[in-house]
Amino acid sequence: GTELMRGKRGLIMGLANDKSIAWGIAKACAGAGADLAFSYQGDALKKRVDPLAAQLGSDMVLPCDVGDESSIDALFDGLKARWDRLDFVVHAIGFSDKSELRGRYVDTSRANFAMSMDISVYSFTAVMQRAEKMMTEGGAALTLTYYGAEQVMPHYNVMGVAKAALEASVRYMAEDLGKDGIRVNAISAGPIKTLAASGIGDFRYILKWNELNSPLRRNVTIDDVGGSALYLLSDLGSAVTGEVHHVDAGYHVVGMKAVDAPDI
Ligand code: NAD
Repeated sequence: GTELMRGKRGLIMGLANDKSIAWGIAKACAGAGADLAFSYQGDALKKRVDPLAAQLGSDMVLPCDVGDESSIDALFDGLKARWDRLDFVVHAIGFSDKSELRGRYVDTSRANFAMSMDISVYSFTAVMQRAEKMMTEGGAALTLTYYGAEQVMPHYNVMGVAKAALEASVRYMAEDLGKDGIRVNAISAGPIKTLAASGIGDFRYILKWNELNSPLRRNVTIDDVGGSALYLLSDLGSAVTGEVHHVDAGYHVVGMKAVDAPDI
Protein backbone atom coordinates (compact mmCIF):
# COMPACT_ATOMS: atom_id res chain seq x y z
CA GLY A 1 0.00 0.00 0.00
CA THR A 2 0.86 3.69 -0.10
CA GLU A 3 1.68 5.94 2.86
CA LEU A 4 -1.18 8.30 1.97
CA MET A 5 -3.01 7.84 5.28
CA ARG A 6 -0.03 7.22 7.60
CA GLY A 7 -0.73 8.82 11.00
CA LYS A 8 -4.41 9.43 10.21
CA ARG A 9 -7.10 8.12 12.56
CA GLY A 10 -10.51 7.21 11.21
CA LEU A 11 -13.85 5.95 12.51
CA ILE A 12 -15.68 3.46 10.29
CA MET A 13 -19.42 3.15 11.02
CA GLY A 14 -21.65 0.55 9.35
CA LEU A 15 -19.48 -2.55 9.07
CA ALA A 16 -21.74 -5.62 9.26
CA ASN A 17 -19.71 -8.25 7.36
CA ASP A 18 -17.11 -8.64 4.61
CA LYS A 19 -19.72 -7.74 1.97
CA SER A 20 -20.33 -4.29 3.53
CA ILE A 21 -19.32 -1.17 1.62
CA ALA A 22 -17.71 -0.08 4.92
CA TRP A 23 -15.35 -3.07 4.58
CA GLY A 24 -14.18 -1.99 1.11
CA ILE A 25 -13.49 1.50 2.44
CA ALA A 26 -11.78 0.23 5.62
CA LYS A 27 -9.46 -2.03 3.61
CA ALA A 28 -8.43 0.84 1.31
CA CYS A 29 -7.75 3.20 4.25
CA ALA A 30 -5.84 0.62 6.30
CA GLY A 31 -3.84 -0.35 3.19
CA ALA A 32 -2.75 3.28 2.94
CA GLY A 33 -1.58 3.26 6.57
CA ALA A 34 -4.58 4.66 8.49
CA ASP A 35 -5.39 3.65 12.08
CA LEU A 36 -9.03 2.61 12.32
CA ALA A 37 -11.79 2.34 14.91
CA PHE A 38 -15.08 0.60 14.14
CA SER A 39 -18.61 0.94 15.47
CA TYR A 40 -21.22 -1.77 15.15
CA GLN A 41 -24.95 -1.97 15.84
CA GLY A 42 -26.07 -4.56 18.37
CA ASP A 43 -24.31 -7.44 20.11
CA ALA A 44 -25.04 -9.91 17.29
CA LEU A 45 -22.66 -8.03 14.97
CA LYS A 46 -19.74 -7.79 17.43
CA LYS A 47 -18.51 -11.32 16.71
CA ARG A 48 -18.43 -10.50 12.97
CA VAL A 49 -16.77 -7.10 13.31
CA ASP A 50 -14.08 -8.06 15.88
CA PRO A 51 -12.14 -10.41 13.54
CA LEU A 52 -12.50 -8.05 10.55
CA ALA A 53 -11.10 -5.16 12.61
CA ALA A 54 -8.27 -7.43 13.81
CA GLN A 55 -7.41 -8.24 10.17
CA LEU A 56 -6.74 -4.52 9.69
CA GLY A 57 -4.75 -4.26 12.92
CA SER A 58 -7.51 -2.61 14.99
CA ASP A 59 -8.79 -3.57 18.44
CA MET A 60 -11.03 -0.49 18.69
CA VAL A 61 -14.49 -1.97 18.16
CA LEU A 62 -17.25 -0.02 19.88
CA PRO A 63 -21.04 -0.42 19.97
CA CYS A 64 -23.28 2.36 18.62
CA ASP A 65 -26.94 2.47 17.70
CA VAL A 66 -27.27 5.76 15.83
CA GLY A 67 -30.96 5.97 16.70
CA ASP A 68 -29.95 6.73 20.29
CA GLU A 69 -28.16 9.98 21.23
CA SER A 70 -26.64 8.50 24.39
CA SER A 71 -25.23 5.61 22.37
CA ILE A 72 -23.50 8.07 20.00
CA ASP A 73 -22.13 9.96 23.03
CA ALA A 74 -20.81 6.69 24.48
CA LEU A 75 -19.08 5.89 21.16
CA PHE A 76 -17.27 9.22 21.16
CA ASP A 77 -16.36 8.87 24.85
CA GLY A 78 -14.79 5.52 23.92
CA LEU A 79 -12.86 7.13 21.05
CA LYS A 80 -11.64 9.98 23.26
CA ALA A 81 -10.34 7.50 25.83
CA ARG A 82 -7.84 6.25 23.24
CA TRP A 83 -7.43 9.08 20.72
CA ASP A 84 -6.90 12.80 21.30
CA ARG A 85 -7.82 13.59 17.70
CA LEU A 86 -9.92 12.24 14.84
CA ASP A 87 -9.07 12.77 11.15
CA PHE A 88 -11.89 11.07 9.26
CA VAL A 89 -15.30 9.44 9.62
CA VAL A 90 -17.09 7.02 7.31
CA HIS A 91 -20.88 6.84 7.74
CA ALA A 92 -22.06 3.73 5.87
CA ILE A 93 -25.44 3.36 7.58
CA GLY A 94 -28.98 3.28 6.28
CA PHE A 95 -32.22 1.63 7.31
CA SER A 96 -35.87 1.36 6.34
CA ASP A 97 -38.62 -1.18 6.99
CA LYS A 98 -38.13 -3.63 4.14
CA SER A 99 -41.88 -4.13 3.73
CA GLU A 100 -41.86 -0.58 2.30
CA LEU A 101 -38.94 -1.21 -0.09
CA ARG A 102 -41.39 -2.73 -2.57
CA GLY A 103 -44.70 -1.54 -3.94
CA ARG A 104 -45.44 2.19 -4.14
CA TYR A 105 -43.62 5.11 -2.47
CA VAL A 106 -46.96 6.84 -1.97
CA ASP A 107 -47.98 4.13 0.50
CA THR A 108 -45.10 4.91 2.92
CA SER A 109 -46.26 5.10 6.53
CA ARG A 110 -45.57 8.14 8.71
CA ALA A 111 -43.73 5.96 11.24
CA ASN A 112 -41.37 4.38 8.68
CA PHE A 113 -40.83 7.72 6.93
CA ALA A 114 -39.66 9.23 10.25
CA MET A 115 -37.53 6.20 11.15
CA SER A 116 -35.85 6.03 7.72
CA MET A 117 -35.00 9.74 7.89
CA ASP A 118 -33.76 9.42 11.47
CA ILE A 119 -31.42 6.45 10.91
CA SER A 120 -30.36 7.18 7.33
CA VAL A 121 -30.10 10.99 7.37
CA TYR A 122 -30.06 12.61 10.80
CA SER A 123 -27.57 10.09 12.18
CA PHE A 124 -24.83 11.52 9.92
CA THR A 125 -25.49 15.00 11.28
CA ALA A 126 -25.58 13.72 14.87
CA VAL A 127 -22.24 11.96 14.35
CA MET A 128 -20.66 15.09 12.85
CA GLN A 129 -21.73 17.17 15.87
CA ARG A 130 -19.40 14.97 17.96
CA ALA A 131 -16.72 14.33 15.31
CA GLU A 132 -16.26 18.06 14.67
CA LYS A 133 -14.99 18.57 18.22
CA MET A 134 -12.32 15.88 17.78
CA MET A 135 -11.20 17.06 14.31
CA THR A 136 -8.82 19.64 15.73
CA GLU A 137 -6.50 19.54 12.71
CA GLY A 138 -9.28 19.52 10.11
CA GLY A 139 -10.75 16.33 8.76
CA ALA A 140 -12.89 14.51 6.23
CA ALA A 141 -16.28 12.84 6.45
CA LEU A 142 -17.88 10.52 3.93
CA THR A 143 -21.38 9.06 3.65
CA LEU A 144 -22.95 6.65 1.16
CA THR A 145 -25.85 7.50 -1.10
CA TYR A 146 -27.60 6.07 -4.15
CA TYR A 147 -28.92 7.29 -7.52
CA GLY A 148 -32.47 6.74 -6.23
CA ALA A 149 -32.02 10.17 -4.58
CA GLU A 150 -31.94 11.81 -8.03
CA GLN A 151 -34.14 9.64 -10.21
CA VAL A 152 -36.94 7.20 -9.50
CA MET A 153 -35.58 3.67 -9.15
CA PRO A 154 -37.83 0.64 -8.69
CA HIS A 155 -38.63 -0.20 -5.03
CA TYR A 156 -36.19 2.35 -3.56
CA ASN A 157 -39.18 4.44 -2.42
CA VAL A 158 -38.72 6.17 0.95
CA MET A 159 -34.96 5.47 0.85
CA GLY A 160 -34.76 7.64 -2.30
CA VAL A 161 -36.39 10.50 -0.40
CA ALA A 162 -34.05 9.89 2.55
CA LYS A 163 -30.94 9.83 0.31
CA ALA A 164 -32.02 13.13 -1.31
CA ALA A 165 -32.12 14.64 2.20
CA LEU A 166 -28.77 13.02 3.06
CA GLU A 167 -27.17 14.59 -0.05
CA ALA A 168 -28.56 18.01 0.93
CA SER A 169 -27.18 17.53 4.45
CA VAL A 170 -23.73 16.87 2.92
CA ARG A 171 -23.87 20.30 1.26
CA TYR A 172 -25.05 22.11 4.40
CA MET A 173 -22.42 20.46 6.60
CA ALA A 174 -19.70 21.16 4.00
CA GLU A 175 -20.47 24.87 4.43
CA ASP A 176 -20.80 24.75 8.23
CA LEU A 177 -17.59 22.81 8.82
CA GLY A 178 -15.46 24.07 5.93
CA LYS A 179 -14.14 27.01 7.97
CA ASP A 180 -12.51 24.48 10.31
CA GLY A 181 -10.93 22.54 7.45
CA ILE A 182 -13.44 19.71 7.67
CA ARG A 183 -14.61 18.35 4.32
CA VAL A 184 -17.93 16.51 3.89
CA ASN A 185 -18.64 14.37 0.83
CA ALA A 186 -20.79 11.47 -0.36
CA ILE A 187 -20.19 8.58 -2.69
CA SER A 188 -23.18 7.57 -4.78
CA ALA A 189 -22.43 3.88 -5.24
CA GLY A 190 -23.90 1.65 -7.92
CA PRO A 191 -25.89 -1.35 -6.65
CA ILE A 192 -23.83 -3.93 -4.68
CA LYS A 193 -25.18 -7.13 -3.14
CA THR A 194 -24.95 -6.45 0.62
CA LEU A 195 -27.14 -7.24 3.63
CA ALA A 196 -28.91 -3.87 3.35
CA ALA A 197 -29.46 -4.25 -0.41
CA SER A 198 -31.06 -7.67 0.00
CA GLY A 199 -34.05 -5.89 1.59
CA ILE A 200 -34.82 -4.09 -1.68
CA GLY A 201 -37.39 -5.74 -3.98
CA ASP A 202 -36.12 -7.22 -7.30
CA PHE A 203 -32.51 -6.37 -6.35
CA ARG A 204 -31.09 -9.05 -8.68
CA TYR A 205 -32.91 -7.45 -11.60
CA ILE A 206 -31.54 -4.00 -10.66
CA LEU A 207 -27.99 -5.43 -10.59
CA LYS A 208 -28.41 -7.02 -14.02
CA TRP A 209 -29.92 -3.84 -15.47
CA ASN A 210 -26.94 -1.77 -14.25
CA GLU A 211 -24.48 -4.29 -15.58
CA LEU A 212 -26.05 -4.21 -19.04
CA ASN A 213 -26.68 -0.46 -19.25
CA SER A 214 -23.74 1.30 -17.55
CA PRO A 215 -20.96 2.70 -19.80
CA LEU A 216 -18.44 0.28 -18.28
CA ARG A 217 -20.93 -2.62 -18.78
CA ARG A 218 -20.28 -3.99 -15.30
CA ASN A 219 -21.31 -3.63 -11.68
CA VAL A 220 -19.13 -1.97 -9.06
CA THR A 221 -17.37 -3.70 -6.15
CA ILE A 222 -16.73 -2.61 -2.59
CA ASP A 223 -13.06 -2.22 -3.61
CA ASP A 224 -14.07 0.23 -6.37
CA VAL A 225 -15.86 2.26 -3.69
CA GLY A 226 -12.85 1.91 -1.37
CA GLY A 227 -10.47 3.42 -3.94
CA SER A 228 -12.68 6.44 -4.52
CA ALA A 229 -13.24 6.82 -0.77
CA LEU A 230 -9.48 6.89 -0.23
CA TYR A 231 -9.22 9.84 -2.61
CA LEU A 232 -12.01 11.75 -0.85
CA LEU A 233 -10.80 10.97 2.70
CA SER A 234 -7.07 11.60 2.11
CA ASP A 235 -5.17 14.74 1.15
CA LEU A 236 -5.63 13.76 -2.52
CA GLY A 237 -9.11 15.24 -2.13
CA SER A 238 -7.96 18.27 -0.14
CA ALA A 239 -10.06 20.82 -2.07
CA VAL A 240 -13.14 18.63 -2.55
CA THR A 241 -16.15 19.21 -0.30
CA GLY A 242 -19.94 19.16 -0.57
CA GLU A 243 -19.61 16.70 -3.44
CA VAL A 244 -21.74 13.72 -4.40
CA HIS A 245 -19.29 11.56 -6.33
CA HIS A 246 -20.74 8.74 -8.46
CA VAL A 247 -18.95 5.40 -8.27
CA ASP A 248 -21.42 3.57 -10.47
CA ALA A 249 -19.58 2.44 -13.64
CA GLY A 250 -21.00 5.65 -15.19
CA TYR A 251 -24.64 4.58 -15.00
CA HIS A 252 -25.85 8.07 -14.00
CA VAL A 253 -24.78 9.72 -17.28
CA VAL A 254 -26.82 7.44 -19.53
CA GLY A 255 -30.13 8.79 -20.81
CA MET A 256 -30.69 5.98 -23.27
CA LYS A 257 -28.32 3.25 -24.27
CA ALA A 258 -27.55 2.82 -27.97
CA VAL A 259 -28.40 -0.51 -29.52
CA ASP A 260 -25.10 -2.36 -29.95
CA ALA A 261 -26.15 -3.71 -33.37
CA PRO A 262 -25.10 -1.59 -36.42
CA ASP A 263 -28.68 -0.98 -37.63
CA ILE A 264 -32.03 -1.38 -35.93
P1 NAD B 1 -24.68 -3.27 5.04
O1 NAD B 1 -25.92 -3.99 5.45
O2 NAD B 1 -23.44 -4.03 4.98
O3 NAD B 1 -24.45 -1.99 5.96
C1 NAD B 1 -25.52 -1.24 6.52
C2 NAD B 1 -25.10 -0.94 7.94
O4 NAD B 1 -26.02 -0.05 8.59
C3 NAD B 1 -25.01 -2.20 8.81
O5 NAD B 1 -23.71 -2.33 9.33
C4 NAD B 1 -26.02 -1.91 9.92
O6 NAD B 1 -25.62 -2.46 11.16
C5 NAD B 1 -25.99 -0.40 9.95
N1 NAD B 1 -27.13 0.17 10.67
C6 NAD B 1 -28.46 0.11 10.36
N2 NAD B 1 -29.19 0.70 11.33
C7 NAD B 1 -28.30 1.15 12.27
C8 NAD B 1 -28.42 1.82 13.52
N3 NAD B 1 -29.63 2.16 14.02
N4 NAD B 1 -27.29 2.12 14.22
C9 NAD B 1 -26.07 1.78 13.74
N5 NAD B 1 -25.89 1.14 12.57
C10 NAD B 1 -27.00 0.83 11.85
O7 NAD B 1 -25.05 -2.63 3.61
P2 NAD B 1 -24.28 -1.57 2.67
O8 NAD B 1 -24.92 -1.74 1.35
O9 NAD B 1 -22.84 -1.71 2.81
O10 NAD B 1 -24.79 -0.17 3.25
C11 NAD B 1 -23.93 0.89 3.62
C12 NAD B 1 -24.45 2.21 3.06
O11 NAD B 1 -24.30 2.21 1.64
C13 NAD B 1 -25.93 2.47 3.33
O12 NAD B 1 -26.12 3.86 3.62
C14 NAD B 1 -26.56 2.16 1.99
O13 NAD B 1 -27.79 2.84 1.80
C15 NAD B 1 -25.49 2.68 1.07
N6 NAD B 1 -25.55 2.24 -0.33
C16 NAD B 1 -25.64 0.91 -0.63
C17 NAD B 1 -25.71 0.50 -1.95
C18 NAD B 1 -25.83 -0.96 -2.31
O14 NAD B 1 -26.27 -1.28 -3.42
N7 NAD B 1 -25.46 -1.87 -1.43
C19 NAD B 1 -25.67 1.46 -2.99
C20 NAD B 1 -25.56 2.80 -2.66
C21 NAD B 1 -25.52 3.19 -1.32
